[in-house]
Amino acid sequence: MIDKIKSLMRVPDHIRNIGIVAHIDHGKTTLSDNLLAGAGMISEELAGTQLFLDFDELEQARGITIDAANVSMVHEYTGGEYLINLIDTPGHVDFGGDVTRAMRAVDGVVIVICAVEGVMPQTETVLRQALKERVKPVLFINKVDRLIKELKLTPEQMQNRFLEIISEANNLIKSMAPEEKKSEWIVKVEDGTVAFGSAYQKWAISAPYMQKEGITFKEIIEQVKEGKLKELQNKASLNKVLLDMIIKHLPPPITAQPLRIPKIWPGDNNADIFKAMQTCDPSSPLAMMVTSITIDPHAGEVATGRVFSGTIKKGQGVYMINAIRESRIQQVGVYMGPERVNVEEVPAGNIAAVVGISDVKAGETICDPEYRIEGFEEIVHISEPVVTVAVEAKDMKDLPKLIEVLRQVEKEDPTIKVEINEETGEHLISGMGELHLDVTTYRITRDKKIELEVSEPIVVYRETVEDISPEIEGKSPNKHNKLYFVIEPLEKEVYTALVGGEIKPGRVKSPKELRGTLVELGMGRDEARSVVDIYRNNILLDMTKGIQHLNEVMELVAEAFHEAMDGGPVSRERVVGVKVKLVDATLHEDAIHRGPAQIIPAARSAMLAGMLGAEDIILEPKQYLFIHVPQDYLGSVTREVQSRRGQILDIEQERDMVMLKAKVPVSEMFGFAGDIRSATEGRVLWSTEFAGFEKLAEDLQDDVIREIRNRKGLKPEPPTPESLLS
Ligand code: GDP
Repeated sequence: MIDKIKSLMRVPDHIRNIGIVAHIDHGKTTLSDNLLAGAGMISEELAGTQLFLDFDELEQARGITIDAANVSMVHEYTGGEYLINLIDTPGHVDFGGDVTRAMRAVDGVVIVICAVEGVMPQTETVLRQALKERVKPVLFINKVDRLIKELKLTPEQMQNRFLEIISEANNLIKSMAPEEKKSEWIVKVEDGTVAFGSAYQKWAISAPYMQKEGITFKEIIEQVKEGKLKELQNKASLNKVLLDMIIKHLPPPITAQPLRIPKIWPGDNNADIFKAMQTCDPSSPLAMMVTSITIDPHAGEVATGRVFSGTIKKGQGVYMINAIRESRIQQVGVYMGPERVNVEEVPAGNIAAVVGISDVKAGETICDPEYRIEGFEEIVHISEPVVTVAVEAKDMKDLPKLIEVLRQVEKEDPTIKVEINEETGEHLISGMGELHLDVTTYRITRDKKIELEVSEPIVVYRETVEDISPEIEGKSPNKHNKLYFVIEPLEKEVYTALVGGEIKPGRVKSPKELRGTLVELGMGRDEARSVVDIYRNNILLDMTKGIQHLNEVMELVAEAFHEAMDGGPVSRERVVGVKVKLVDATLHEDAIHRGPAQIIPAARSAMLAGMLGAEDIILEPKQYLFIHVPQDYLGSVTREVQSRRGQILDIEQERDMVMLKAKVPVSEMFGFAGDIRSATEGRVLWSTEFAGFEKLAEDLQDDVIREIRNRKGLKPEPPTPESLLS
């Protein structure tokens, strides 16, 4: 088998790098497992019962997939053999970072949609993530057996339901697919970009398949009703239909890379490496992007990623763009089923697992030391870590080990943020929600054998302004330099574009291009042309004209801007959505009197004082909450949500089930899992999704500010502008 994989790796026409994505519980794991079993990669007995891709005990206990795992399989299609690399992605949006990263490695996705529930919020989220990365979708409508046996729908009713699901998916595809692919990517029953079936019962059909084999939907329905599964599986094999669909309709790297590279690599379109990546050339210089890091008990850190150009070889020296250093590749591996098997080299167009480049993070770009290239686009995470716990080792002797483990955790899961305090031994871990942190701390105890003391979770807040400040003067300690700032809120559309990653952070290199975008989003022309720096969803503008020496200190003003935005005056939480305008300045003639120690404090204190003069407020993180319950429990669920300051957005009824959508502050979500389970006698399915930061209710502002200041050991009263400027 490994020889087959090795030879197929070299035929980019015969490779498919794909992901399977779904709303939680729609059957993604069952499908992946049964596909693997059908391809002879794991035993039939194991599949379905053991949920192979949910390899972690905790995942099995909770029935959810957390890590993105990789597996490969070989499938025969119209006489040729094909290599299918499948990246598993989690269905729980608490772990949304994994989905985004997995999308970078693949060229196509199978969107699994449960026929009973239809398109759900996370179906939309994952589809959107795929389209954003220019990854082509096909649909698998799953659990059709339930429509037949439980809901007892007529063939016509079933057809209507399918059409409804397909049309919803197509609406998204139409709005988000790359312009030139919009019509090509629309999914259709007729051409076989939609398949139907039951992952659980291991059968599937598609229109072209039925036509070719002379099977009718009616026959299928009869066989499901009669429970003739063996016959059904023979006649309409899940593997054959799904893998055929993947090979026929999802693009090989050689077709996908020309479309995807301009989107995911920001470098020069005329560079040789750009062309090499577009043509998937194995003999050009190396370009690989790391999409996940795992720790192997024997090999140590394993970095898995996609090779876009060149060939990665055992023993080769490589350069890592973000880590800014060289390293040597000790092992190169590919996946055979779920196992990593060492090989000599992996050419462009494939997923490779490498050992030897320790201390990198997911998102790293790897290239030849002699041919350094620009890094790949940063992967934008839709969610942000908004809940923090403090952890301590119960046993003092575990302290050094804990620090090492925490650094590892951060590397393996870039959506986790760790702050290490070597002095107090109290370390902070931030994640996307309570469950995410639960899983993380649980694993530290189980896998690394470190008993932990974990604090109650704390919510992360943000500061912003609601009004325009007067002009504030910041004076340097030596009184020779004066900088004048005005602080105001960013235009809503500009802020949304920043959050969505459509405007990239960093020092502004090409103001022209950015100016157009900002004006379109509603910023005035004068302002749009003056952007100096974008940092954590805030913008620094230089509105001055002809001030002597200002260029020389702009770097320092930007540094002060970063410091001010890292901690607002009221809560020392991060600042977002603020426009900082430098409107005037007088600077000392002599460079020696306008160094960092003069300019940074002058600028920073004026910015912070300006925020206080611009209606500084606190924002709190919110989550969307999606709850499915039997009708009878709607009352208790509504009460549970409302008692948590939740806002009910939508209630939809489907037969005897209700689906409720609400928006709830993250701070009110602690303990929700237990409470909702007991309120519904366990008959509830729910999930959450990050809903961004919103203004904390007026009447809670003071209390929360006091609480945060107290926790941080600050004076209970926020400072005044005067105290900051003195
Ligand atoms: P995931 O969360 O998307 O990975 O979903 P799973 O694969 O874990 O499936 C969720 C539940 O649905 C499990 O209890 C499966 O046994 C069940 N399931 C999956 N596919 C089917 C199907 O085609 N028909 C039926 N009746 N149940 C299914």
